[in-house]
Amino acid sequence: MSLRLSTWRADLLGLFFPNSCRLCGKTLHRQEEVLCTTCLYKLARTNFQDVQENPVMEIFNGRLPLYSATAFLFFSKGGGTQKLIHGLKYKGKKEIGAYLGKMFGKQLDSSLLFQSTDVIVPVPLHPRKEHKRGFNQSLVICEGMASQMHARVHSGVLYRKIHSSSQTRKSRYERWENVKDIFEIKNGRQLSGKHVLLVDDVITTGATLEACGNKLLEIPGIRLSVASLAYAQG
Ligand SMILES: [Zn+2]
Repeated sequence: MSLRLSTWRADLLGLFFPNSCRLCGKTLHRQEEVLCTTCLYKLARTNFQDVQENPVMEIFNGRLPLYSATAFLFFSKGGGTQKLIHGLKYKGKKEIGAYLGKMFGKQLDSSLLFQSTDVIVPVPLHPRKEHKRGFNQSLVICEGMASQMHARVHSGVLYRKIHSSSQTRKSRYERWENVKDIFEIKNGRQLSGKHVLLVDDVITTGATLEACGNKLLEIPGIRLSVASLAYAQG
C-alpha cells in the first residue's frame, strides 16, 4: 500500500474509530493509547539523553553554552515520526503531542543529565500562527513531559515579537538572520537560578533554539538545556 493511501486509511479509520493507532489505524487495546505497541516499538529513539556529548549537543557547540541537549526520536522523510508530527501540527491531533511528550518526559526523568530540570519552556509560536492553529504544539509536548518530570511548564516568560517568514527553503545563515532578534523575555527573574529545559518539536539547524536560548541566558544564574521531540540529521 502506498504511504499516502495508508495514511488516508488510518485517518479515515480514526474518524470512525477514534481509539485506533494514529499510524497504522489498528484498533488499540485497552492498555494502549495513541499508538499500538508495534508502532510505538518501531519509532526510532535516539537515546541521546544519557550521553552528554551527542549529535544534538554538537549542533550548539560554540553557539550556545548548554548543560545538556537531546532529542527523543530520529526524524526521517516518510517515517513514522514525520507522520506523527504532521498530524500534531497540521491536523490538530494534540493527543499525539501529549502522548509523545509523556514518553519523552518519562525517559528524561530517569536521565542524570535532565532529572534536575526545574522549569520547562516551550519555543513560542507567533500569536497569529498560534491563533490560526489553535495551539502551540511545543507547549502541548511540554505539558506531556512535565506530567512525568519533577518540573513545571512556564510558557509566559519567553515570547515572540514579530512575525518571521517561513524557515523552509532558507540557508542556515538566512534562518539565523530571520530569527535572531524575534524573541523577548518578560518577568525573567522567576527563572533565575533554575535549570531550564527549552523544548521544540523538531530540531534541524538549531537556529530557533539558539535564538531562544540566547535570550534565556540573559537571566542571571540560569542553567540551560535543550530538548526536541525529533531530530532531523542535516
Ligand atoms: Zn500501529
